[in-house]
Amino acid sequence: MIRIDGNLVSPGPGGVYNERMAQGYRVWDPYRSKLSALSMLDPTIDLTADMRVLYLGAANGTTVSHVADYVDVVYAVEFAPRPLRDLLAVSEKRKNIVPIAGDATRPDRYAPFVEMVDLLYQDVAQPDQAGILIKHIPFLKAGGTAILMLKTRSVDIRQTPEAVFAETITRLTDSGLRVVTSCWLEPYHHDHAAIVCGVDP
Ligand code: SAM
Repeated sequence: MIRIDGNLVSPGPGGVYNERMAQGYRVWDPYRSKLSALSMLDPTIDLTADMRVLYLGAANGTTVSHVADYVDVVYAVEFAPRPLRDLLAVSEKRKNIVPIAGDATRPDRYAPFVEMVDLLYQDVAQPDQAGILIKHIPFLKAGGTAILMLKTRSVDIRQTPEAVFAETITRLTDSGLRVVTSCWLEPYHHDHAAIVCGVDP
């Protein structure tokens, strides 16, 4: 991914949400996007032009639009009507975003519209975040990558973030995923961890 003056940027055709521009590139703010934060903390995270991405929790499409600047196609799933409206507007301008009005707990309902993907990215504030990711493993190509942005407080407010994190790692590995790397998203996002997993060929 491209960096200019220490900022992560993306090469999109024009701005989407009044983001800053730098030398014609869209500045991708790590305080506003967990994927940008992860990339700042772990520069090995990459998006490439041949990638197909399944994105769960698209919201109003801000991070989705940056991802779409880099990859071939993004299948963007969102279930709340308000952000979905904005996501539709973003996808009208970027033809490689396929917006899907769907509930990520029920992938069977949108499976016919989604191809096998190289990257599965999940950012949903739900109690069963690990379970949702596991349900989507069948969409991942062998050798593909899954990134879970874990909001620990949404899983269980009574447990420490560290305990929720450890339990999530165990569930993911028990389901056949291989944890490649993980980190907390401090100082950009509090009580959020990123867990990057691989699916072996
Ligand atoms: N990833 C977005 C970004 O960086 O711009 C922010 C995502 S926001 C933290 C979480 C989103 O997930 C919300 O828009 C919410 O409506 C959506 N969401 C939560 N549960 C969902 C589900 N079961 N299916 C689809 N979307 C869901």
